[in-house]
Amino acid sequence: MGVLGYIMQMQPFSVNDGEGIRTTIFMAGCPLRCKWCSNPEGFSQREIIGWYQRKCIGCGDCVRVCPQGIGINMNIERDRCISCGKCTEVCSQNARTRMVTYMDADDILSDIHKHRLFYAYSGGGITFSGGEATSQPELLDYLTSEIYDMGYSMDIETSGYFDFESVRPSLERMDLIFMDLKHMDPEKHRYYTGVPNDRILENIKNLGTLRSIDRPGHGPDIVIRIPVICGVNDSEDNIRQSAAYVHKVLPEARMELLPYHSFGMIKYEALGIPYDHPEFSAPDKERMDHLKDVIMSEGILIADYR
Ligand code: SF4
Ligand code: SF4
Repeated sequence: MGVLGYIMQMQPFSVNDGEGIRTTIFMAGCPLRCKWCSNPEGFSQREIIGWYQRKCIGCGDCVRVCPQGIGINMNIERDRCISCGKCTEVCSQNARTRMVTYMDADDILSDIHKHRLFYAYSGGGITFSGGEATSQPELLDYLTSEIYDMGYSMDIETSGYFDFESVRPSLERMDLIFMDLKHMDPEKHRYYTGVPNDRILENIKNLGTLRSIDRPGHGPDIVIRIPVICGVNDSEDNIRQSAAYVHKVLPEARMELLPYHSFGMIKYEALGIPYDHPEFSAPDKERMDHLKDVIMSEGILIADYR
């Protein structure tokens, strides 16, 4: 048996995760617990089935095939689900759906390969995302090694919270690395994400030591991303400190500001998890433009892939 791993989604035709048309691979597992996370199915590495109540027509087909005798509202007895997936195969409305699947890496590669013409004509490729792609280092190493040999461009989106040396070879195969910096204040970072920021700050510095295997003397392009949320990290002081830090340790990096969005909140419903933070909101365009000006005043260029 080859390398296997937990995949939330393979999303072809992505245009916001790097250059051109890309396939984004959402890999499950994440050491952070950001209070605004829009991908809660990616918290852990296990197969997960979701139930979207608003799509359900109450036909009962799922109940008839379930070996565990679970009813239509699986969220009240989810602990008995063995993730066999039989209900997802009979649900005509896609109300029951696989949210995390245990996949063979070679099947992932076959899927990627189907869209090779789109990568070629658009200057696109593959983007690793999550969850946290570095939380499955063996799978990441296998996929990046094989995709490198296929000649496709690779990017990664990461929280920055990982053991750098264990994923260095994978990072050195990338063309572009997006790394988050969610807050400069260690206590606020811990409060909002569940982990301190010291490892992330260190890894931003470590990015400067990467050397691409096919660009001697150069590393991958770097974009430090801030997901901007009103009242959490949108103060001018926090954004200025973030830009000043990046300028100090990685002056060639660009920065991107992403306004908070709540697109993934329906997933909490599908998993039967309460979402406790409806108060989060995005700054308006004027505020975002001002914060970009703050970054540029610290000598850092702005990136915009949205
Ligand atoms: S099979 Fe799908 S649509 Fe029918 S009851 Fe089950 S979840 Fe609802
Ligand atoms: S995945 Fe299997 S065990 Fe879980 S609810 Fe569906 S049919 Fe039942």
